[in-house]
Amino acid sequence: MAKMDEKLEVVYQDVLKRNPGEVEFHQAVREVLESIGPVLVKYPEFRERKIIERIAEPERQIIFRVPWQDDRGEVQINRGFRVQYNSALGPYKGGLRFHPSVYLGIVKFLGFEQIFKNALTGLPIGGGKGGSDFDPKGKSDNEVMRFCQSFMTELWRHIGDVTDVPAGDIGVGGREIGYMFGQFKRLTARYEAGVLTGKGLDYGGSLVRTEATGYGATFFVQEMLKARGNDTFGGKVCTVSGSGNVAIYTIEKIHQLGGKVVACSDSNGVIVDEKGIDLDLVKQLKERERRRIKDYVEYRTHAKYLHGGNIWEVPCQVAMPSATQNEINGKDAAMLVKNGCIAVGEGANMPTTPEGIKVFLDAKISYGPGKAANAGGVATSALEMQQNATRDSWTFEYTEKRLAHIMKNIHEACFNTAEEFGAKGNYVVGANIAGFMRVASAMVSHGLV
Ligand code: NDP
Repeated sequence: MAKMDEKLEVVYQDVLKRNPGEVEFHQAVREVLESIGPVLVKYPEFRERKIIERIAEPERQIIFRVPWQDDRGEVQINRGFRVQYNSALGPYKGGLRFHPSVYLGIVKFLGFEQIFKNALTGLPIGGGKGGSDFDPKGKSDNEVMRFCQSFMTELWRHIGDVTDVPAGDIGVGGREIGYMFGQFKRLTARYEAGVLTGKGLDYGGSLVRTEATGYGATFFVQEMLKARGNDTFGGKVCTVSGSGNVAIYTIEKIHQLGGKVVACSDSNGVIVDEKGIDLDLVKQLKERERRRIKDYVEYRTHAKYLHGGNIWEVPCQVAMPSATQNEINGKDAAMLVKNGCIAVGEGANMPTTPEGIKVFLDAKISYGPGKAANAGGVATSALEMQQNATRDSWTFEYTEKRLAHIMKNIHEACFNTAEEFGAKGNYVVGANIAGFMRVASAMVSHGLV
């Protein structure tokens, strides 16, 4: 573990004591605290106002029961969460995750990261996150609908277009957002389009929102490649973990920019296709038919399926982890570097462990942490909110241009901030400090709240 400023170590120990057992949350807090020591030296008012202690404590945490009935008529009980973390820059904004691994520590790590990510976009959005330990996998459409309706029956009173605006994340896509929006509308008798983002295009959604996280992460890597010596994606062999929303649109943009993605995955195994992943087939299997990635080899018999395989063993020049937290450990990172990887762009949130990050930084490859690289999703959600507020809808080309511009600005902010604080090329330091500065300054302006 990297060394931390002594006073920040005291704050961190307090976070450990007050939030026992929430290991992912501890990890996310530690990474930020390790970066921001120099800011506190330069701006002592942040320390005097206890900005760090306040930022680490969510403004509000809501935990609720979600009862629903499955297709056999049996009653099921899940737990729902919404952590409204920080509203210094705007209404709370951040996705909902439905996955059996969800507990308060996961929601808090994601909410904490979201504060800085949202600040980096330069758009007026605060940080929040939510979800449930509900597992949508293997559930019928009707079961998913009943769950979403029950979830919203509690959540609706806590959200609104100027209060808190949820979106999707793992296990929550267009279908789930649609069911939740329908129930919100019914409970409130209001057509408040800006209460959720990631909506369908026929009822207030934004073009490019579906693609935004993957496209944005790829734009971020494109900027990193440019910064490390005018390099491009052209002809680069890439690997992208996962095969969900973020992975699919990362693969799409890499292919558009001339790179070749040779592997993707799900939680059961890895597909390796040396000819380049056939994205239409992945979309058919995952988006339309809701099947497993192993079925890819039924249609592309030259490809290999490695059950329980490790995607990071597949040699590549660019790796884009787009599945889940802590999916690249120190050993995986060392393997990537050894095999010639020169850039890693995180589509997922916190996919690299602290040991893995150290390997990337020591090897001086271009490493774009999730809170910067995957900010295109939430940025485009904020663009969806803008369109909802003006009852307008923009073209694909215009919206994508806005997204590309935002990602370029985020890259520039991270790059320049790292340099200003003596850590040239270290996007972790750059992202943490640039994000923190924006939130901390607003918190100082708001007084003790
Ligand atoms: P999806 O549910 O669409 O896809 C998730 C993918 O990751 C699936 O292929 C899934 O495989 C795999 N996966 C999930 N959990 C695990 C696990 N424990 N081990 C291995 N593989 C796993 O989610 P998204 O694509 O939306 O999200 C992916 C990542 O991107 C997450 O970290 C999320 O927080 C982050 N992110 C998403 C944004 C968005 O706009 N959607 C915005 C910013 C970040 P399987 O089907 O087997 O579970």
